[in-house]
Amino acid sequence: MHEIVFATNNAHKLSEIRRMAGDRFKILSLSDIGCHEDIPETADTLEGNAVLKARYIKDHYGRDCFADDTGLMVDALGGAPGVFSARYAGPGHDSEANMKLLLENMEGKTDRSARFMTVIALILGDDLKCFKGVVEGEILESREGVNGFGYDPVFRPVESNVSFAMMSDDEKNAISHRGRATALLIDYLSNLSE
Ligand code: IMP
Repeated sequence: MHEIVFATNNAHKLSEIRRMAGDRFKILSLSDIGCHEDIPETADTLEGNAVLKARYIKDHYGRDCFADDTGLMVDALGGAPGVFSARYAGPGHDSEANMKLLLENMEGKTDRSARFMTVIALILGDDLKCFKGVVEGEILESREGVNGFGYDPVFRPVESNVSFAMMSDDEKNAISHRGRATALLIDYLSNLSE
């Protein structure tokens, strides 16, 4: 079976993609290949960061691999937090602090439109390919629901009348940015292995 490294140790992301890939490929994590260092994410775009992480694994471990990067773009905030979504409230701050700052910055805004975007960069041999998944939606006035992670309680996708944090994993994956980017990746890999 073809082995591909997913440049993450996030257990949630790993189980999600392993479920989608079935037994067509073996998806290895960073710890599976003995990579315990911090991989630089210093680019100013999602695609730039995804490519940086994938290249790092290819260059240092010689493995076929893919890496992802996600951001939440809010129109009324000029596209912020965007590529800085993980550290919107500053380094060392958690999702609670990020959401609190987002809700504060959105106070009084009538345009609440926003979107999540995930870019996955895949390196197979010498070839680089990127897959993009987007979900349009809006920022709620206050938190709703407890499922999921990150900004889920304050984001409602246009396809639904509840926030991501009110959905089951399967409901969210079917329409989410990461679910869509991952489906494109799996499709591409499946066609190669036929
Ligand atoms: P990452 O690139 O997957 O690490 O995502 C960067 C940041 O975006 C995370 O720290 C989260 O705050 C946020 N984020 C990513 N995906 C989601 C999601 O599906 N729901 C809510 N927030 C997310």
